[in-house]
Amino acid sequence: MPDAKRIDGKALAAEMSETIASETRELLEQHGIKPGLAVVIVGEDPASQVYVRNKKRRAESCGFNSVQHSLPADVDQDSLLALIDELNSNEDIHGILVQLPLPSHLDEKTITQSIDPSKDVDGFHYVNVGKLSTGDTDDAFIPCTPAGCMLMIRRELGDDLSGLSAVIIGRSNIVGKPMAALLLAANATVTVTHSRTKNLAAVVREADIVVAAVGRPEMVGGDWIKPGAVVIDVGINRVERVVDGEEKSVLVGDVNYAEASEKALAITPVPGGVGPMTIIMLMHNTLRSARAGLAD
Ligand code: NAD
Repeated sequence: MPDAKRIDGKALAAEMSETIASETRELLEQHGIKPGLAVVIVGEDPASQVYVRNKKRRAESCGFNSVQHSLPADVDQDSLLALIDELNSNEDIHGILVQLPLPSHLDEKTITQSIDPSKDVDGFHYVNVGKLSTGDTDDAFIPCTPAGCMLMIRRELGDDLSGLSAVIIGRSNIVGKPMAALLLAANATVTVTHSRTKNLAAVVREADIVVAAVGRPEMVGGDWIKPGAVVIDVGINRVERVVDGEEKSVLVGDVNYAEASEKALAITPVPGGVGPMTIIMLMHNTLRSARAGLAD
């Protein structure tokens, strides 16, 4: 089979960003509403700093009001909850995101559940999780990473995945489980695998759609991939590699891209696949939230 199509998440996200920016201008002109996104970051985790910076940049390019709250690593839980409370009642803020992971003295569950479900653009509040799990995908805020993956899958295979088998590797609350709910709602036959799954390669080999969300560099080899499958690689792993005779730190996914692209129909690269789509889905959710009060 010739090399797979490379699904360009970066280009798709840039295209969507233009549409969101133009809809944002319209919302401001016609209704005087500017979407407001508040991002709360606690501590100095370097990866989180990069993610937050990218989100801020994208929010600004969409024409949003982007507000960042940077709190010290030792902030106490009550102060963080008070800030969220304030943002919940701030009419200029339509989306609230608390960057995870949080320092260990803070209870992630209490924090994420304190965000008003109508501003929960990350889709982690149980109200949104419940809506998604019961198939109410139109009304829920859907977590951004699986929402971005789903959009790319739909572009390759259409809206109705009837008769197709999908295998997800990883069962986390932010990727694997919501991904399963989305694929199921689109009529795929879904298998969720994880660290305790036996004969993982054999299970994956049956899949028309593979979503890898593990966090293990290039774990999925080319011989795991059914010819003609669509492969979505969520993993982000930093590894040391010799590039042009020099040792460098590079990002790779959970899938061996070179090998898998000899078998797959289409595959996302890392970087430049799921990452940019995750950020643009956050903007999509925030714009939707800003429009929520308008009559149809
Ligand atoms: P997680 O650590 O919460 O979950 C990992 C899952 O992988 C678990 O369910 C575990 O059972 C499974 N697993 C671990 N070892 C396994 C093995 N040997 N075989 C099969 N399954 C195994 O991780 P997460 O938050 O879901 O993230 C997964 C990866 O995706 C990470 O690399 C993360 O950085 C990346 N990620 C990327 C984005 C993005 O925007 N591109 C967003 C979220 C997460």
